[in-house]
Amino acid sequence: MRTDWPNSARMAISLTFDVDAETGWLGEDPAYAHRLSTLSEARYGVTRGLPRILDTLSRHDVKATFYVPGHTAELHPDAIRRIADEGHEIGHHGHMHLRSDAIGEAAQREEIERGLEALQPIATPIGYRSPSWELTPTTLQLLKDHGFAYDSSLMGDDRPYFHDGLLELPVHWSLDDWPHLHWKPGRGDAFTAPEAFLDTWLKEFESALEERRHLTYTMHPEVIGRGHRMALLDRLIREVSERADVWFATHADVAAFVTS
Ligand SMILES: [Zn+2]
Repeated sequence: MRTDWPNSARMAISLTFDVDAETGWLGEDPAYAHRLSTLSEARYGVTRGLPRILDTLSRHDVKATFYVPGHTAELHPDAIRRIADEGHEIGHHGHMHLRSDAIGEAAQREEIERGLEALQPIATPIGYRSPSWELTPTTLQLLKDHGFAYDSSLMGDDRPYFHDGLLELPVHWSLDDWPHLHWKPGRGDAFTAPEAFLDTWLKEFESALEERRHLTYTMHPEVIGRGHRMALLDRLIREVSERADVWFATHADVAAFVTS
């Protein structure tokens, strides 16, 4: 896969945000409809975290990819429309954020098709990220049938590759803010110190720079969008920009480039 990035950039970075909001919990268990505290933390991601993220990206003139469940777009149309209006990419992230491995073929089809319908008034997604990064062969086939250009859910390499005929822009848990910085009562989680997480991000950046490869970071607005954590995103963008000539690109831009 080519690494001769545009404008002689040394590497490519995609900042990606999964805008799960309340849908992430409601899809996991409808009983969450009664859990106002959990839902309020999720909603904070859209009401407070997302505007902060968009302001930060705008300040650095960086375009990013936002993976949005269809139901999130129905709950928060204005917030999701702002993402598209500011030139960012909207990707498909299921409809009710149901894990593909936990539902049958008909439900997987419904997740894809209802998600597309809900996002359509705002944007037509060409990329897909499976909820909780659980992709099945059935969903993969549905993506190909519906003409998606790429998926971003797998971890079989640390650079773009093809999986069963579909372009994959791989991810990894270690570069995702959720396992490091999200906490939920009763689950035994522990917060990673924010500085330690930034250090992980920067070490992977150094490794990717060495190999001139494409690197994807994953964030969630309710996690990275807290006040003190936005400083991490700001520092990441500033530090990598100071250290190297980086092409900040949406997943759609990377997909188009590596397959051209
Ligand atoms: Zn998600």
